[in-house]
Amino acid sequence: MEQLIRLTKQKECSKCNICCRFPEEKPNLKPTGFKLIKNKEVFVCEAFDLKTGKCLKYSKRPLDCKIYPFAVARSPDKENIMLVLDNLCPAAKELNTNKKILKTKLTAKNPIEWEETFIPVKSLKNTGISNDLLNELTPSDILFFNSFLPGNSGLSAFSFAYHFTWEDFFKFYWKLIDDTLCVFAKDIDNTFMPVPPLSSSGRIVSAKVFERCFELMETQNKGKTESRIENIPKLQAQELEKAGFRTVKKDEEYLYKRKELEHLSGDKFKHIRWLINTFKKEKNYAFKKYSLKHLNGCADLLFKWLSEKREKAANDNESFLLKNVDKAHKRAFMNFEALGLEGRVLYSNDKLVAYTFGVPLGKNTFCVMFEVADHEVKGASQYIFMKMAGEFSRYKYFNTMGDEGIESLRANKMHYHPLKTIPEFIAYSKGK
Ligand code: SF4
Ligand code: SF4
Repeated sequence: MEQLIRLTKQKECSKCNICCRFPEEKPNLKPTGFKLIKNKEVFVCEAFDLKTGKCLKYSKRPLDCKIYPFAVARSPDKENIMLVLDNLCPAAKELNTNKKILKTKLTAKNPIEWEETFIPVKSLKNTGISNDLLNELTPSDILFFNSFLPGNSGLSAFSFAYHFTWEDFFKFYWKLIDDTLCVFAKDIDNTFMPVPPLSSSGRIVSAKVFERCFELMETQNKGKTESRIENIPKLQAQELEKAGFRTVKKDEEYLYKRKELEHLSGDKFKHIRWLINTFKKEKNYAFKKYSLKHLNGCADLLFKWLSEKREKAANDNESFLLKNVDKAHKRAFMNFEALGLEGRVLYSNDKLVAYTFGVPLGKNTFCVMFEVADHEVKGASQYIFMKMAGEFSRYKYFNTMGDEGIESLRANKMHYHPLKTIPEFIAYSKGK
């Protein structure tokens, strides 16, 4: 608890007037043991000195005040008592990137009810209640989501950005089942799981957890669509088959030795080196870290790239995939920091000619999620990819995701001589 109290010392407090004043007489989040007194439009704690803006009982202030912007609250589904962070506090954004908050300890006493502004940090206790309600997962919940990721996942779906770049199309939900984080995605008529139940301890997730997940999806889907769990690694898919679930292969993600992509040595990379040298010889170029000042250049390139790609789309699958990709890229441009994405851009003669965004997948792998380059600028795509590999030298591997069955994409990925491909599977419920 002391560690938690230390984390609550905010430099913002002196210029902030949120604490100690409440919109109603009996708020959910209130100082235990202190009365609130009406003052104009708000209710003010009796120990608050309006003239100085200070607490007159500071050393005797209740635990609620000591730990705010943290609080202890029941999860919306009431199945867990959670340590939460109140997003109303201006310091919440910074605290929510601090992994130390996951290690703090507190007893699950006197929980308050959930508020819309709460960000889940971790479960303090399971209440023993069980129901079919799902809890909304929001873009602020990245630390909570990441705390359940295994150290070495390898597949792109084991990242927050993989899901929330598609936020325009899905609403996301979570539920804790047997200490695993189960994430659900919902569109107009379908609920599915975009990633299997996540277990931070690396413990094998039992078939019972999967069964419960299917029960929950079936309650939502009401038999109108088939419930499914996507992006399951091979070993887990094999275990599920043994337990009676049906699994099918979805795609394969391409994995490379990062060093090879950085150095591009040997005959096998001769053509790529030639393209890069062509780019370097002919252009006045600059490789930069993405920030919002590059947004317009990225958006212009995206529209050019999309219109060319749409014209050339070889089949319906390709056209479908290109249909909505602009929204996902725009999410990355706008929310890259909140999504944990690393972005880089490439300029040639002061014009943005390529951009790329990626995210770490555990300790060893970096995943390149998007790369767009102006195909009229020879070697721009190869140069930015090589630079990315050099930039993220602390990772052993690079994952460039799957090819979605698009032949040109597959050919492109094969040019770089992948170390291997990692298959991913979809599971359907038993007996279907
Ligand atoms: S809301 Fe946060 S920053 Fe503002 S006074 Fe309270 S603890 Fe300090
Ligand atoms: S006890 Fe002190 S810190 Fe707590 S609400 Fe009242 S004035 Fe603010």
